[in-house]
Amino acid sequence: MVLFLLFVLGLIVGSFCNVVILRLKSEESFVRGRSHCPKCRHQLMWYDNVPVVSFVLLRGKCRYCQKKISWQYPFVELITGFLFALLITPQFVSTQTLTWVISLLMAGLISILVIIFVYDLKHMEIPMIPAWIAIVLSVIIVVLQDLVNEVSLLSWGSNTVTGLIVGGSMFLFFYTLTVYSHEQWMGAGDAYIALTIGILLGWPYTLVAFLIAFLSGSVIGISMMALSRGTLKTQVPFAPFLIFGLFCALCIETYMPSLVTPLIL
Ligand SMILES: [Zn+2]
Repeated sequence: MVLFLLFVLGLIVGSFCNVVILRLKSEESFVRGRSHCPKCRHQLMWYDNVPVVSFVLLRGKCRYCQKKISWQYPFVELITGFLFALLITPQFVSTQTLTWVISLLMAGLISILVIIFVYDLKHMEIPMIPAWIAIVLSVIIVVLQDLVNEVSLLSWGSNTVTGLIVGGSMFLFFYTLTVYSHEQWMGAGDAYIALTIGILLGWPYTLVAFLIAFLSGSVIGISMMALSRGTLKTQVPFAPFLIFGLFCALCIETYMPSLVTPLIL
């Protein structure tokens, strides 16, 4: 039941993420103003806005101008729905108030990362305000996790201390790459995503996330070159791979932790 509710909640939040992705660029207000078709500007009714369902019923076309609705909309909604169901359900214990708070913050963090993922793919840049919010949320989450586990915050091995050390090192590593390569290999924004990953995942799951990010990044990068849709110079945004790695690592931590035990030092 929790699983289903979280999935539906994810669909609705995903729908809001789509609005944020669109309006971050045009600098419109996120909450004010009814939603409208980005192509013909026609105001949409509530029944045009039901996540995924409307897209299927309208066969992917705007009711008013018949132009195609981007696949981004149902994609973001479904991804957010699945991530909410997969990653929040297992940690949620309805009798513990703190897990309500953690689940809420996790939901916020997942949504922000989905926004950054799609925004970076579309515009090749990382929106800085969402990136900062992600960092702050991940710090609060690890602090609360220590409180739930009754681990002293500043003790060696607490989620908070490990997160800050691993996150800080990842940030320095990525930031150095950025400066050294004059933002050719990495953008400064990627360093902020790396910081978020380090704080949230600690050790060894940060390593898992980066392995997955670099592997998937090279596979996609090489296949793009092979299909000669790009040369070596084609910029492939890296943050989407980092975020993909983060979500995979969280899934592994939740469902298959035995895969990673050999890495624990
Ligand atoms: Zn339209």
